[in-house]
Amino acid sequence: MLKVDTEKCTGCGECEESCTFDAIFVKDGVAVVDHDVCTLCGICVDGCPEGALELHVEAGAFATDLSSWKGIWVVAECRGGDLASVTLELLAKSRELAAELDAEVTAVLMGQGIESKARELIFHGADRVLIVDHHELATFTDEVYGNILADLAKRERPEIILAGATAMGRSYIPRVATILETGLTADCTGLDIRSEDKALLQTRPAFGGNLLATIVCPEHRPQMATVRPHVMKANAPDPGRKGEVIRIVPRKSLLGHKVQVIESVKEQAEGPNLSEADIIVTAGRGFEQEKNVELARELADLLEGTVGSTRAAVDAGWLSSRTQIGQTGVTVSPKLYIACGVSGAIQHIVGMQGSEIIVAINKDAEAPIFDVTTYGLVGDVKEILPLLIKRIQKERGL
Ligand SMILES: Cc1cc2nc3c(=O)[nH]c(=O)nc-3n(C[C@H](O)[C@H](O)[C@H](O)COP(=O)(O)OP(=O)(O)OC[C@H]3O[C@@H](n4cnc5c(N)ncnc54)[C@H](O)[C@@H]3O)c2cc1C
Repeated sequence: MLKVDTEKCTGCGECEESCTFDAIFVKDGVAVVDHDVCTLCGICVDGCPEGALELHVEAGAFATDLSSWKGIWVVAECRGGDLASVTLELLAKSRELAAELDAEVTAVLMGQGIESKARELIFHGADRVLIVDHHELATFTDEVYGNILADLAKRERPEIILAGATAMGRSYIPRVATILETGLTADCTGLDIRSEDKALLQTRPAFGGNLLATIVCPEHRPQMATVRPHVMKANAPDPGRKGEVIRIVPRKSLLGHKVQVIESVKEQAEGPNLSEADIIVTAGRGFEQEKNVELARELADLLEGTVGSTRAAVDAGWLSSRTQIGQTGVTVSPKLYIACGVSGAIQHIVGMQGSEIIVAINKDAEAPIFDVTTYGLVGDVKEILPLLIKRIQKERGL
């Protein structure tokens, strides 16, 4: 229950202004609470300059109040003028989850000059877009983005909040979970709805990637997860989709921050972007020596693709760590993935299993990589790759 200390209350009206549910108002110079409408979100408590408001929450009150949280939120990410691919992937997944829950999908987009992205979010699956477009959001800071998102969630009570496990998402989504006093499963590779109680099943690699753990958040809401980019597939945009765009003006008290961003410098990446590549030729320890990796480069060049690696190939010093695919490397989902001399350890598989067509070349017919392949070639990479290269050159008249 929300209680007003009438001794301290000055009737300033700050609480009335902050409450979107009209659950508190000033009458005869003192704040009065409409307990039938109050959701106990606590926003007025934080905003009261006199400390005259207090929340008395009985133990277990939130734990039993799960049914008042509804809908799925996707925290949209827009950097350098483009929506992050993971945002579109999460919208597609959210549509599947929403069908199970009979719920709405809402995208939450924060930044400056981002209004035009709302339509794109709707075309990709959002029913509603909450837009917070403010000059204070031009530069990302954990505090401001986190405070605004947590504030919106307290007011609107979504059942599920999903965000990308990007540098940005990993940075501020834990803060939001802490403010909301709920759980967060970071770095998920799978999401589903449990049929018996409609709980969100959040799957992620655990214990060094040796097993996949499925985690639920049974007693708190919202259920929160960050998801790795490129493990899920985005839907093609549907320009016929309609949705609602709601503009939110953030309260001044949410815009304060201790961190000052002095400068943002765009990282200069060497070579093509692995996570966006359509064709990847991956070199594993089966190449035996560094000079043989040239065969992977030759095939990749011929196919206008790029070279990836396993951790073993990186550890051997054959390729840079930027090319590593897997749990501690990049997650990829190309149209064609050619794994050469790769055993198929789970830590590697989690980073490439979303590829459309997987081809493996391995001299061991029992290698686990063959469990996930579309086409398998059993043999020595040093023999098969030159034959493959020659054949492609011949087909292309090179
Ligand atoms: C916490 C943790 C995180 C990890 N993260 C990652 C990660 O992100 N990415 C990753 O890749 N690994 C990761 N690993 C390491 C992973 O467990 C494996 O050790 C690694 O993927 C093995 O690489 P590989 O397949 O190249 O080598 P190996 O497992 O040694 O396999 C080599 C394969 O090549 C075949 N072969 C040998 N010679 C030939 C030949 N001449 N022609 C054809 N085939 C041949 C062999 O039959 C074998 O199957 C991680 C491990 C841990 C513990």
